[in-house]
Order: sequence, then structure tokens, then C-alpha cells
Amino acid sequence: MDCAIQNEGMHYEGTCIRPPSEAYSILLQVTVGCSHNKCTFCGTYKDKRFRIKDDRIILSDILFASKYMKRQDRVFLMDGDALIIPQRRLMWILDRIREHLPWVKRVGAYANAKSIKMKSLDELIQVREYGLGILYLGVESGDEEILKEVHKGTSAESLIKMGRKVKDAGIKLSVTVLLGIAGRQRSLRHAKATGELLSAMDPNYVGALTVMLIPGTPLHEDYISGRFKVPTERELLQELREMIASTDLTRGLFFSNHASNYLPVRARLPKGKQEALDQIDAALRGEIDLRPEWMRAL
Ligand code: SF4
Repeated sequence: MDCAIQNEGMHYEGTCIRPPSEAYSILLQVTVGCSHNKCTFCGTYKDKRFRIKDDRIILSDILFASKYMKRQDRVFLMDGDALIIPQRRLMWILDRIREHLPWVKRVGAYANAKSIKMKSLDELIQVREYGLGILYLGVESGDEEILKEVHKGTSAESLIKMGRKVKDAGIKLSVTVLLGIAGRQRSLRHAKATGELLSAMDPNYVGALTVMLIPGTPLHEDYISGRFKVPTERELLQELREMIASTDLTRGLFFSNHASNYLPVRARLPKGKQEALDQIDAALRGEIDLRPEWMRAL
């Protein structure tokens, strides 16, 4: 172990993001960038070439956290899809977390269909036994055409299978879907197909975000050229309504409280579905104020 490395604090590189629910977690960057990095709407890791960080740097950050982050009982593994780390190395990281941060109750990470596919069910069970308690999966849409167009690199069927595999391993599954990603014409079709995908996958949590146009991304170029038209506020509300109406979860939380959305909704499904639909209907009638454009953010 290099002492110089040990004393430098956390070694974050470039833009780092985490899900809103991991705001108070120890953020441990174990990969840099995203191994896929092709989604047309995503600009997060465009400046980063994907790599797994050096074990010495990862251990140094864990040791730093063991001294200064004793009040945080969750760890989130950044960047993109930490699950893509080969099994032995990922187990080593989880084991070091258990060894040096014994108060940590849950480790979370982003995943994608490819990284889940690369792990067997037994391997997922193994990482769960070593502390990995939740995976965050970007679904975006249940519509095959949209998934292809945004270069998601997977199909609706594969997303459903991989999501179910995570749940079968006993790992909690939180997915994100993207309002507005289908543009104006196919908005409701996207909403319905996404609701159907969610019903088949049955995740524990669904977070609906609203598409934001990030300069430098292919989607932004399509917007500038007129090929992509963002749905209006009203159309986005109708899209959200259709999506929730088409979603049947056995026991899950559907929320749209992300800062990119116009209307924060939080519905426990199946019980809270009607209440959420009534809330959206009230907003459609103009009885609830929407988040102003200047307050929306990623
Ligand atoms: S949306 Fe997710 S999978 Fe797609 S490029 Fe961005 S980080 Fe990678």
C-alpha cells in the first residue's frame, strides 16, 4: 500500500453522479465512465474513457472513508455500471468494504442489461451476500423502436429478463424511465409500452425522469435540426398518467420527484395508483402548480 496514496482523500475523477436516494451514501468511485456510453440523450460520461480504477486507489478511498465517514451507513459504487467489474475483483471490493466499513448496511451500484447478463444468478447471489443490496437500472422505455433509436444497446425483453434476475438474486431493483424520450408523436405509445415492461419486470422502485437536452449529445442535435420535438408540459403529464395507468406492480414505489420533472408524484403501487392518477388529472385541470422551467435540473 502506497502511503502517499493513502493520505490524499477520496480520488474522484471527472463528473460523478449518483441516484437521489444515495445522496447521503459514501460515494466510492470504482470505475470511471460508462462501459456502454452510447445513449443518445446522455452526456454524463462523454468526457471519460471507461476503465476500472486501480485496486490501490479503491482501497485508499475505503480507508479514508473508514476514518472520516463513520456516520454514513450506505456505500454507492460509482461511476456508470460498476456491476461490470469481473466477479473476483468486485468481491474483493465488497470484502474490503465489509472489513474496513463494518457499519455499512447496504452497497448500491448502477447496472445495465449487459453487466447483469455477464453475471450468473449464483454470482449475483454471491455479491448480495457480500453486501450489494440494490442495483439501479436505466430502462428509459419499454418501446423497442425507442430503445433502438436511443442506442440503449438492449431490448425490452432483455431488460425484463435482467431485471427479474436481479430480483431473483434477492437484490433490490430500482429502475429509471424517461418521460419525453419518444418525442411528441409517440409519447403515449412509449408510456403504455413502458408501463407494460414495468409490470412484467416488477421492480421495487421506479423513478420517472423527464428528458433534458444536453448540448453535445446526438439527441440535442436532433432537437436543433427539428428531428426531435420535446412534448409540451401537458403532453408530458398525459404521458406520466398513461405510464402509471399501465403499470401494475405487486409491491413497489413509483415516483417522479426528480428535479427534472414538472410534477412530483409518489405512489405506492398497487394501492396508491388511483390517488396518483387523480393528482395528475388535477394538474391537467390546472389545479396544481407545476415546477417552473428554471427550477428543473438533472
Ligand atoms: S444512460 Fe447509462 S448506459 Fe447510457 S450512456 Fe449514460 S450512463 Fe451509460
